[in-house]
Amino acid sequence: MDLSIHDLVKRFGRITALDHVSLDVARGSFVCFLGPSGCGKTTLLRVIAGLEEADAGSIRLGEADLSSIPARARNFGVVFQSYSLFPNMTAARNVGYGLECRHWEKERTRARIAEMLDLVHLSDQAEKLPAQMSGGQQQRIALARALAPDPSALLLDEPLSALDAKVREELRIEIRAVQKRLGITTIMVTHDQEEALAMADLIVVMNKGRIEQIGTPQQLYREPASAFVADFIGRMNVLPVEAGAQGAMSFGGTPLHIDHPARDGATMLGVRPEAVSLTARDGTGANILPATVRSVSFLGNVTRVEVEPDARRETSIMVELHGTSKVPEQGEQLAISIPAEALRVLS
Ligand code: ATP
Repeated sequence: MDLSIHDLVKRFGRITALDHVSLDVARGSFVCFLGPSGCGKTTLLRVIAGLEEADAGSIRLGEADLSSIPARARNFGVVFQSYSLFPNMTAARNVGYGLECRHWEKERTRARIAEMLDLVHLSDQAEKLPAQMSGGQQQRIALARALAPDPSALLLDEPLSALDAKVREELRIEIRAVQKRLGITTIMVTHDQEEALAMADLIVVMNKGRIEQIGTPQQLYREPASAFVADFIGRMNVLPVEAGAQGAMSFGGTPLHIDHPARDGATMLGVRPEAVSLTARDGTGANILPATVRSVSFLGNVTRVEVEPDARRETSIMVELHGTSKVPEQGEQLAISIPAEALRVLS
């Protein structure tokens, strides 16, 4: 069943945590709520889970209106950032906890626990207490516990942020694999753009209680609708531009060609660092801007070169060089070349 959120408003005193949020989550999809601290993503997840009551708006699961259904009766599996396992229960008993609460009979419960432990590859840890397991293992048990009662959706609140980088990457892959295998609708809150890009079918970018943009990872990276999204998803150079007649744009007096349709009144263009290349000052062609190298950072597989265009020295432009490209010196005078198709109009 699809989850449909309509016009949700949630206030905490004078703070508006959710400001008229509407969104549809397709059955079986993996959706990430992504945004900076305080943007309202956790509040949105908690309202969906029934742990927080909205001031206005509605949530429907298929035909059912969830507004008046308490959290426990919504049949959602929830996993929080802190592992929140019962410390005095073994992994197996933790997984079976929701089944006991639902009065599943013993044999069925035992079989389901075994199935869930197998799903998260921890069958051999069944008799361990949480304190005897690593953080990653505990979070896999929490996932198995959430999935055991066969919930209609899985809600994950920053489930990986307490783990170290390597375990986090492994669990990303594992959670996604489990989600796909079960085909369960999943919503995950994260502030980590890389995590969202790697895991989600659809990303909901939030800012100040509102949805900035909804799209697939590729859409958000290639077609960010605003400077906020562009900057939050990957890195984006923002060029302040002057708008001329008939959609013409220039940067510090140099005309810029863009393939994307210009919007009236646009004052900012965006270009990804990897789309900009370095060239000689006397190079010819469109969108070649003389510039001086401000800094060079070697980062292994990529070298970041920050340049200062002569036309507007206060604007810094980041260029990413990969592989065997020639690396310039700090202070070197050269030019940058920006392909017309790589420039985006930002609002
Ligand atoms: P974080 O990543 O830091 O958890 P978030 O994007 O999840 O941030 P929320 O936790 O949803 O943001 O908070 C949104 C806003 O609502 C914030 O300004 C926060 O201070 C406020 N807020 C959240 N919960 C409460 C509460 N129980 N009482 C008062 N204010 C709250």
